[in-house]
Amino acid sequence: MSEKNTKKDFIDTHQGQNLQKINLLDFSAEELAQFITPSFRVKQIFEWIYQKYADSFLEMTSLPKELRERLSCEFHFSPLQCIKFEQSKDKSIKYLFRLNDGLLIESVLLPMKELKSGKHRYTICVSSQVGCKSGCSFCLTAKGGLKRNLSAGEIVGQILWIKKHNAIAYEQRTNIVYMGMGEPLDNLENVSKAVKIISTALAISPSHQTISTSGLAKQIKKLGEMNLGVLLAISLHAVNDELRDKLMPINKAYNIASIMEAVRNFPINQRKKIMFEYLLIDKLNDSVQHAKDLVRLLNGLRAKVNLILFNPHENAIYQRPSMDNALKFQEVLKSKGITCTVRQSKGLDISAACGQLKERVEK
Ligand code: SAH
Ligand code: SF4
Repeated sequence: MSEKNTKKDFIDTHQGQNLQKINLLDFSAEELAQFITPSFRVKQIFEWIYQKYADSFLEMTSLPKELRERLSCEFHFSPLQCIKFEQSKDKSIKYLFRLNDGLLIESVLLPMKELKSGKHRYTICVSSQVGCKSGCSFCLTAKGGLKRNLSAGEIVGQILWIKKHNAIAYEQRTNIVYMGMGEPLDNLENVSKAVKIISTALAISPSHQTISTSGLAKQIKKLGEMNLGVLLAISLHAVNDELRDKLMPINKAYNIASIMEAVRNFPINQRKKIMFEYLLIDKLNDSVQHAKDLVRLLNGLRAKVNLILFNPHENAIYQRPSMDNALKFQEVLKSKGITCTVRQSKGLDISAACGQLKERVEK
C-alpha cells in the first residue's frame, strides 16, 4: 500500500485474507494518524504494541475506553500464530507461523556472541513471501512456487512475535536479515515499508537490516534509489553465467554482469560492505579455481563473502561439500584481502535451510 492509499483501499486489497479486521502492523504511525486522532493517541498505541508488548487493545489502559473498544472492532495486531518451534543445540530457534489465511511461513532467531565485546547479539531471519517464484534448483522454498507476497505487517509481525516471546524483548541491538522464505525484491513495496516500520517502531535501524536477493538487478536499482540505508546481500553462488543459469533460472533474466553493475551503483555507507553469499555445492562450484574467479569478479568492490555449505534436504539433487574444501576456498579469498566467513550452519540439526520445518509439518 503506498503512502497515498486510503483505509478503504487497504481493506479491499486484503479481502479474502484476514478479513473483517485490519492489521494495524501494516501502518506507519503517520498513516495511522489519518484514521486515529489526536495523533498522540497513535504514539500511545505504538508504545503499547511495540514497547510494552500488549496482547490486546483492551489492556491499553491509557486510552479512553471507547477508543479501545472501537480499535478492537476495527483492527487486530496478530497477523500470525506460532504453531511450532524447534530449538537447536546451538540455541538458534526456528519458528513455524500460520498466517491468518492459513498459509505457513518460517522465521529463525539466531543468537551470536560478538567476538570483540563478548556481548550477545541476536539476528532474526524473516520471510518476505509465502513460497518463491525464482525456482533455484537447490532451494526447498522454490518447490511450490509463489503463493503470495507477505504484507508489511506480516513481516513486522514475525519480529514482534519473536521479540515478545523471548528474552530479547528489550534488547535493542537486533539485526534483521531478509533471508527466510521468498525473494524480498520481488515484494519490494511491502518489504521497503516493513524496513521503515521496523526502524521507527522497533528501533532497529536500516543499517542493521540486510536484504538478501537472488539478483533482481532492476529491483536492486530501485531499492538503491529509495535510499533506505539498508544493507544488501547478493546470493551469487556461481561465477559464470553457464553454471548460474542452471542453479538459478533468474540468471537468464539478470546475468552476472547486470547484477554487478547494479551492485556497483548501490548506495551504501562507506564503512559498510556489500555481502556476497556463496553456496558451496560439492564438486560443482567449490574448487580453488572457482575461488580465484570469484576474487576477480569482486575486484574493486567493497565486498565481503559469506560461504554457505549446501544444506541437504529430501528433494536435494546436490551434495554438501567437506569443511576442508570450504576452508581452502576461504583461504583463497582471504589471501587476496577479501573478508570471508564460513557460515556456521546454525540449527542444522533443526533443519535450518528455509522451508524444511514447513515441509515436515505439511507432510
Ligand atoms: N531469496 C533470497 C533470500 C532468501 S534465501 C535469496 O535468494 O537471497 C536466503 C539464502 O539461503 C540464500 O542465499 C539462498 O541461496 C540460501 N539457501 C537456499 N537453499 C539453501 C540450502 N539448501 N542450503 C543452504 N543455503 C540455502
Ligand atoms: Fe527464492 Fe531465494 Fe530460494 Fe532462490 S534461494 S528460490 S530466490 S528463496
